[in-house]
Amino acid sequence: MKIVTDPKKMTLLVREARRQGKRIGFVPTLGALHDGHATLMAKARKENDIVVVSTFVNPLQFRKAAYERYPRDPEGDRALCEKAGVDYLFAPSAEKMYPERFDTVVEVKELTGRLEGAAIRWHYRGVTTVVAKLFAIVEPDKAYFGKKDPHQLAILKRMTEDLNIAVQIVPVATKRDRDGMALSSRNRLLTPESRKAALALPKAVAEIERRIKAGETDRGKLTEALTAMLSSAPGVTIDFAAIVDAETLREEDRSGPTLIYAAVFVDGLRLTDNRVV
Ligand code: AMP
Repeated sequence: MKIVTDPKKMTLLVREARRQGKRIGFVPTLGALHDGHATLMAKARKENDIVVVSTFVNPLQFRKAAYERYPRDPEGDRALCEKAGVDYLFAPSAEKMYPERFDTVVEVKELTGRLEGAAIRWHYRGVTTVVAKLFAIVEPDKAYFGKKDPHQLAILKRMTEDLNIAVQIVPVATKRDRDGMALSSRNRLLTPESRKAALALPKAVAEIERRIKAGETDRGKLTEALTAMLSSAPGVTIDFAAIVDAETLREEDRSGPTLIYAAVFVDGLRLTDNRVV
């Protein structure tokens, strides 16, 4: 495995691979890698000749304190990527990605504003801007994203379609711990007690899934139940809870599968979980 820090060098390497007829799979991440990321890499490994993983804590998508607090583990990342059979680990510095005169924003407008997006539009703008940049650098055939972040996934699909970026977005199922908690880099920052409190999130989402499967269809009632469960959980502050159409992310659409989606704060950390029924 080769570690690359320079964006221009990264592009030269993938272009050389492409000249040899190789297909390129790409897994963008924020680093502090775990088994959830490894699932994305395994799928990319299976479906491509060359696998590129990026680990870049993108300052555009964080508030300053959260940016500084975000876990970083370059040694662990390197070992996990080696084990997953990654060809190139792309780990640029913020200065390389955003030089002094950097002045561009990529925004998916309407779709970003749905769900909790209206309140954190700047966050998704940071995500779309960095992913557009990463796509331009890596020029992948396929890019792998977790269903763990359904809003992000929908926004990125729209962005690539709107901008005619020739990449296929591949969604990958959420990997969970045995207790039901979705794996997340942020889980490392939880104390044993706050982790126990955080379990209320996957439990509440799974309970709503159970009720829908049991035949409950009243969206208002289900949303109320989800909100009540999270509001009454000790050590947890509810940020957001919604039950929407999984495709359009709107409450009023009732055709397709249903997305149950919630975000909470535990110890000042924002954790999200979801299920699609
Ligand atoms: P992050 O580094 O948290 O931004 O995640 C990078 C990619 O991995 C995103 O596409 C996430 O949706 C995905 N991901 C994060 N956690 C999981 C998980 N537990 N299972 C599957 N994919 C995940």
